[in-house]
Amino acid sequence: MKAIQRMNPDDHLVSAKELKDVVAFGRKCSKTAFPNPTREGCPERARLRAMAHRDPRLTLEDLPIAHIVRCSPCFQEYLHLRRMSLLVRGLQITAASLVVLAVFVTAVLFVKDRISGRGEPSVSQQKQQRSEPQPNVVTPRPAVPVSPIPIKIDLAAFSPTRGDEKQDSRKKLHLPQKLLRVTLQMPLGMEPGEYLVRLKDSAGTDYADIRALGRINDGTTSVEVDLDLATASPGNFTLMIRPPGLSWRRYPVVIE
Ligand SMILES: [Zn+2]
Repeated sequence: MKAIQRMNPDDHLVSAKELKDVVAFGRKCSKTAFPNPTREGCPERARLRAMAHRDPRLTLEDLPIAHIVRCSPCFQEYLHLRRMSLLVRGLQITAASLVVLAVFVTAVLFVKDRISGRGEPSVSQQKQQRSEPQPNVVTPRPAVPVSPIPIKIDLAAFSPTRGDEKQDSRKKLHLPQKLLRVTLQMPLGMEPGEYLVRLKDSAGTDYADIRALGRINDGTTSVEVDLDLATASPGNFTLMIRPPGLSWRRYPVVIE
């Protein structure tokens, strides 16, 4: 572990190859070579998940590599999460190519239509003609089970804390245990720019750590982030937001 760390002294970012090596090594050692029924010293599931998703912000120190290769339950869990991550990515690619296909077919139909039809159709006719063939193309089967649910949160309605003060008495954000596309509407006066958004569980472990661009529209800045809460355990979380040039704001969240 120490040796691996020294190999990468500048940024400690984990390369895909290093992770592959871990998996290959683990496979060699078999899945049951290191039973750990009491799960002693096991890392948080969130950390395994981040590792399985190849979170590019992870550093080697963050990764429980040394533990995983010596703990069969963790190793199996990692393999499982990794498979899920690849599966989700595969589905996203499938969804994207379906959209491309749909747009392409629609364009072809539209061009054919214009060539065969006499005269210039009006704009409204064009729109109708374009949208009509689409449903047949897009829905060969509902192969897109993982499209995020859009949610809008007006943070002006919630009061943040800047330190570690008690949060019990305050209004909590309730989020469903789903894949979400959250639009965070910032309180008035918040500048557009780079926002940092984190979601921590009650143990203080990062569940999500996202950089996003705050855009201003009609005087209010909003930030859009995707939060995959499908695998989050229900309970109390803390949503942390750092507007550009300002300190962290904390909002209590309940995932249910
Ligand atoms: Zn373990």
